[in-house]
Amino acid sequence: SNKLQQRNIFRPDFNFEDLGIGGLSKQFGDIFRRAFAARVFPPHMIRDLGVSHVRGMLLHGPPGTGKTLIARKLAKFLKAAEPKVVNGPEILNKYVGQAEENIRNLFADAEKDEKTLGENSPLHVVIFDEIDSICKSRGSTRDGTGVHDSIVNQLLSKIDGVDSLNNILLIGMTNRKDLIDEALLRPGRLEIHVEISLPDEHGRVEILNIHTKSMRDKGYLEKEVSIADIASRTKNFSGAELEGLIRSATSYAMNRKVSFTDLSIKEGDFQVCREDFDLALDEVKPAFGQHTDDFE
Ligand code: ATP
Repeated sequence: SNKLQQRNIFRPDFNFEDLGIGGLSKQFGDIFRRAFAARVFPPHMIRDLGVSHVRGMLLHGPPGTGKTLIARKLAKFLKAAEPKVVNGPEILNKYVGQAEENIRNLFADAEKDEKTLGENSPLHVVIFDEIDSICKSRGSTRDGTGVHDSIVNQLLSKIDGVDSLNNILLIGMTNRKDLIDEALLRPGRLEIHVEISLPDEHGRVEILNIHTKSMRDKGYLEKEVSIADIASRTKNFSGAELEGLIRSATSYAMNRKVSFTDLSIKEGDFQVCREDFDLALDEVKPAFGQHTDDFE
């Protein structure tokens, strides 16, 4: 029935482009409902309801599709503490013992807030990029050091252990969900899994609009540049790659204005043109799915 349909939490005229996220309104809505909505309720209501907060989530999909972007925007939206971002392989490359210490430091602020502010603590978001590198299925990592296991155990103890924190949301990111130990994906742990895929044509229009907004507003984008046309020619591009495409086109435009003999730039009469985008499209190619069949 209508009543059971998901309510649009945003105004009907809410424009996701204003948030700077293109093509992901469905995913954004799901992530908000499942992991964040409860965080705006007063703590006593959550207690009375007898439900606990979600403390872990996995965002999976190709690189550069906006996983970190969504996590950061949502954290900001909820006035959470500035998210801490760590990278799996980087942590592993530290000296023995350093990795564990880094993990401990990650949670230090959240621990302090929980101790001093209790239920009034702000939410602390910890983003763990390339989490597959430390949480591979057992058996696939026989490095003999036990470093992986102790890191995983530390992460888990903060979200579902005896000394777990109530003010934490751990967001793991990966483009290889299949590699992740299933034990980590169970309820109470990284229990919510949301796929962030490459944008479809409509999503690409939104992303291109977001990243050309400023140059258009300032009159630096030639009127003839058609976002719809560029979107139709950028199948399999990620958001980050679309941004790279715009950078490339802009570089062609800027290059026309500079010369080695005179580095001063005369203002005015500067525009990024259709031809610049044609050149950029020859230069910037998507990393993934170039040879896959049409799925749109
Ligand atoms: P990785 O797996 O490599 O960490 P990611 O999915 O976390 O990738 P982001 O870091 O969020 O990717 O994206 C990189 C940049 O690309 C963003 O900061 C943003 O500028 C742009 N971008 C990516 N996706 C989108 C999108 N859907 N809408 C707008 N901009 C995007």
